Amino acid sequence: MTATADYKTLAERASKELAEATATEALRWTAETFGDDFIVASNMQDAVLIDLATQVKPDVDVLFLQTGYHFPETIGTRDAVQAVYPGVRIVNAEAEQSVAEQDAEYGPKLHERDPNQCCHLRKVVPLRKTLAKYSAWVTGVRRVDAPTRANTPIVTWDDRNGLVKINPIAPWSDDEFNGYISEHGILENPLVSIGYLSIGCAPCTAKVAPGQDPRSGRWAGQGKTECGLHG
Ligand code: SF4
Repeated sequence: MTATADYKTLAERASKELAEATATEALRWTAETFGDDFIVASNMQDAVLIDLATQVKPDVDVLFLQTGYHFPETIGTRDAVQAVYPGVRIVNAEAEQSVAEQDAEYGPKLHERDPNQCCHLRKVVPLRKTLAKYSAWVTGVRRVDAPTRANTPIVTWDDRNGLVKINPIAPWSDDEFNGYISEHGILENPLVSIGYLSIGCAPCTAKVAPGQDPRSGRWAGQGKTECGLHG
């Protein structure tokens, strides 16, 4: 059996065994199983997942998709994460082309004309290239994020990227999530407090009114709800 097939079998078994695991149990299993061979993804909206992960692996690798279109506050949060968790290694995954080079080839503001292609170039491809160096990745996806995420398992096989995917906080409600932030004084992107409840690239992220679906502020009016990272 190839390593890929081994890991696929492992993920299928762990998916059942860890179906009810707490976030810490899932992360401990990840660290014990993969050692240095996994990475934690963060969009730098908050440091909940990073805080949990550093409890089992203080020098964990953290993946940030540096699209070139982020709010300054998001870059500031990334830098603050490095200061608060000095052991972590932040991996900035960048697109092959700078924004200026992309504009020259595809025309300016590709995100307005074809956000799927822009996300493909600036998120999906850099993610795939980075994940190719690892055997597992950890995400902060939660079932309450969107109807498309309602069945997110804690451990699964990511067929698209060919590695194990762990979603330790998949079952967390908004109350549990916000409670963890306030109880532990977790770092949060300052944009959250002014109504940006789901933060992506600046041109494609809008404020959300109280009570509205947080993800409705992403690609508002463009008929798109996902970057293509978790689909
Ligand atoms: Fe481009 Fe917007 Fe996707 Fe960012 S979120 S990569 S700016 S389309």
